[in-house]
Parts: sequence; C-alpha cells; structure tokens
Amino acid sequence: MLLAMKLKLSWKLVWVGVCAVLFVIVFFFFQGVRNPSWQGLTMGTSYSITIADRPRSAELRAIQSAVESRLEEVNAQMSTWDPDSEISGFNRFKACDAFSVSPEFAAVVQRAVEIASAMDGAFDPTVKPLVDHWGFGPDADPEPVAELLKAVGWKKVRVENNALLKTNPDVQLDLAAIAKGYGVDAVADVIASSGFTNFLVEIGGEIRVSGLNREKHSWRIGVENPQPDGDIFQTLELSSGGMATSGDYRNFRVRTDGTRYSHIIDPATGMPAETDVASVSVISSACMDADAVATGLFVMGAKKSFQWLETHPEFEAFFILHSTNQTFTVRATPGFPEQQ
Ligand code: AMP
Ligand code: MG
Repeated sequence: MLLAMKLKLSWKLVWVGVCAVLFVIVFFFFQGVRNPSWQGLTMGTSYSITIADRPRSAELRAIQSAVESRLEEVNAQMSTWDPDSEISGFNRFKACDAFSVSPEFAAVVQRAVEIASAMDGAFDPTVKPLVDHWGFGPDADPEPVAELLKAVGWKKVRVENNALLKTNPDVQLDLAAIAKGYGVDAVADVIASSGFTNFLVEIGGEIRVSGLNREKHSWRIGVENPQPDGDIFQTLELSSGGMATSGDYRNFRVRTDGTRYSHIIDPATGMPAETDVASVSVISSACMDADAVATGLFVMGAKKSFQWLETHPEFEAFFILHSTNQTFTVRATPGFPEQQ
C-alpha cells in the first residue's frame, strides 16, 4: 500500500517535471529573442545587423540564413575578387557583343551609369584598370595610365535587356564604390520583407536604418574620425534611409617620399584623387545611391561638391575637410541631420 502510494507520487513528480520543461520550451519559443544583433564577414569587410524587436528563434534563424544567401548572391554578381563572379566574367569578355547578366546586376550597372552621368564621371564604374594599376584591385596592370584611360569612361558601357555591352573590348567594371551600399539595401529588403520595421544594417561602414532603436529612439550613427586613431568624430540621429562614407584615411598606400595616395581614383586624370576632402558622408533614401555619390563627391572636392549638391537636394552630405597642420574643418548641407 505504502509502495503503491510512493510510486503514484513519483509518477506525479515526473509529470510535473515534464510539464515544467515543456512550459519553459514553449515559453522561450514564443517569447523569442529580444533585440538580436549579429555580425559576419562579406565583400572583404564585416557586416552587422540589429533588429529592435523580438523575432521568434526560428524566425531569426530564417532571417539570418536569408541574409547570408542574399550577400553571397551579391558577391557572386559583383565581386571583382571572385574570378567566377558575373562581373569577372564580363571583365574577361574581350568583345563588344551583348553579355547576358542577372537582372539585379544589370540594374546596379544601370544605376551606376546614371549616377556617373549625373556626376559628370567623378564616380565612374569603369575605373577597374586604374584601380589595378594603383595597386588596389585584384589584378596587376603595369600599363601606363594614358594607355589605360582609353578603356575608361562610363559612356563606354551600356545596359540593354539584362545584357551589358562595351564599346571597347578592354572596358572593365569595378562596382566596389556602389556594391556595399547595394548589399546594405538588399539586406534591408530581406529584413523588411520578414515584417520587421525597426532595424539597422551596416556593411563596412555603409548603413541603412529603419524605424527606432531598442530605446524607442532614432538610431544613433557615428561618423568616423579620419585620424589614424579612428574613434567617432560626430554622431547623428537617423530613422530612415542610408548613409555611406568615402574617405582617404582607411585604404591608402604610401609613396617612397612618404606622401600618401588613396584608393579613390579621379577618372578624369587616371591618378589617385587628391582633394581637400578627408571624408564625406552622404545620406539618401537608398544606401546604394549614397555610396556611389560619396565616392564621386570625394573626387570632386568640396567646392564642386557643394555646387553639385545644390542641384541634387535628394542628397545631404557632411564633409570633414583637410585644413592646415593636420587639422580638420567641417562643412555640411543645411538638411544634414543635426550632430550630437
Ligand atoms: P568607396 O569606398 O565607396 O569610396 O569606393 C572606393 C572603391 O571604388 C575603390 O577601392 C575602387 O575599387 C573603386 N573606385 C575608385 N575610384 C572610383 C571612382 N572614381 N568611381 C567609382 N569607383 C571608384
Ligand atoms: Mg562609395
């Protein structure tokens, strides 16, 4: 009798235990992950993503894997460092016939050509031979700059029905100045299509935000200090759109005489751009556009840039300009968000 009661009791305990475990599993499953934030590597740099919400664990895993696949897709289309990418295929294609590409790749080239035209070639997606020549690309190109310039110029490439055509068989594309921004927009689309409205996406410093952060406040974005110690120069608040920065302080080479030259090339001269701009951060609804325009404004220098920006009110820009004795001055368009 006593044994039967004891057995009944221990069965009850087992059931209570099982129910408790099930409750905890179900509770955590439905409760989800609060404000998930994660990092990874892509396009030769790092990315980071924060969602200011509480996706369920399975939902978060699905978003993370969709983001990874999307980034791999963009790389497979636009990385000149991947010999099997679409862009590398086009660059090896030494003919002026139509070269079929994916619709996304065609759309980015089309947008690149439009921005190149609007900026009078200061941003130019055909700079690849020059980028290689100056030692910033995947291939070496020892030919003289004057020779290389014959195959450079945005008018030498056009997009027709998901195909690219060059007017000179030596034309090659480099989308490094726009592809990170495009990748940011593509990742933002993946997250938004999963139903989330509050998030931040960043790839190698190019950013896109939506909605509010976890404190229910606009996202606080930092503009890097162009000094070698590279902390934050300014912070600003943003609740929608993209911001991209181009500068001469991260990716540069040093000549034998100690002077520096940056990875941004002036397509008009074929030489590394030498301007008064240390860094320029551009805000626009699409990060892709901000990315391309930031590179173009860097080439233009402050004076030409402000003239250009007056006729392009869809862009706001913040410049850190070289001043005397290694100091900087700051100049921004009137609509650029207030600095904190
Ligand atoms: P970003 O960091 O966005 O300014 O892009 C710079 C990268 O774009 C360089 O490393 C080159 O691969 C490429 N690039 C350099 N100069 C130009 C230019 N004037 N227009 C377009 N792309 C460029
Ligand atoms: Mg850029």
